[in-house]
Amino acid sequence: MSGPAVPSVGPVNGSRTVAWRDYAAVLFDLDGVLTPTAEVHMAAWSEMFNAFLRGLAPGHPAADGADTAPYTEADYYAHVDGKPRYDGVADLLGARGIDLPRGEPGDAPEAETVCGLGNRKNDAFTAVLERDGVRPYPGSLALLDHLRDLGVPLAVVSSSANAPAVLAAAGLADRFVTVVDGRVAGALGLPGKPAPDTFLEAARTCGAAPGAAVVVEDAVSGVRAGAAGGFGLVVGVDRGAGEDALRSAGAHLVVTDLRELA
Ligand SMILES: [Mg+2]
Repeated sequence: MSGPAVPSVGPVNGSRTVAWRDYAAVLFDLDGVLTPTAEVHMAAWSEMFNAFLRGLAPGHPAADGADTAPYTEADYYAHVDGKPRYDGVADLLGARGIDLPRGEPGDAPEAETVCGLGNRKNDAFTAVLERDGVRPYPGSLALLDHLRDLGVPLAVVSSSANAPAVLAAAGLADRFVTVVDGRVAGALGLPGKPAPDTFLEAARTCGAAPGAAVVVEDAVSGVRAGAAGGFGLVVGVDRGAGEDALRSAGAHLVVTDLRELA
């Protein structure tokens, strides 16, 4: 006998359901699946850039000819959204005519370098999380509650290095057998998504064979990781990627709200 050969999914009362008891673990992405973390990132970018721009006094060498108008949401979408952190800093500064050295990832947050500002944003992210908290998507919380009642082992698999802080701020820190985040992956030398390795590590820690585990993802790269790992069921959560893109990447099932599966 191998694991479940066919995903246990079927129409019930016109909606879809999953026979969760047939699975030995459920592995969740975090940002966009359990928590609307993009909003926290946007607030952190705004706090960091606006503090920096306010502090650029006339006469500062980097301020010569620079546009120091307040940073706005339009700047976020034009220059920052979706890019690696330091590239987002560099592109915004370039658009404002502000010239700072790149520096190094190990730069202190106080350093007036691209990397220093990027690290400052990460500190702002943690501060915004602690101050404002983050509420899980209600439908995702409903599914987590349902799975807790069933006793299915759960894991978080996230590229972010902030996953434990986000889980704590969301009140979800005690729900998971393991959290495989960017720091854990780095320490273990595991390649990130779309490689399946971080999901495979989480399944192993939960004591589940890949074919008996479920992957839940909102990003095309994450769904690809689930498909590449041979997981028993890959659920796509459409927060904007689109059902077709998620299905093409290998999702067996796509929902817009995890409440549909709770
Ligand atoms: Mg995500």
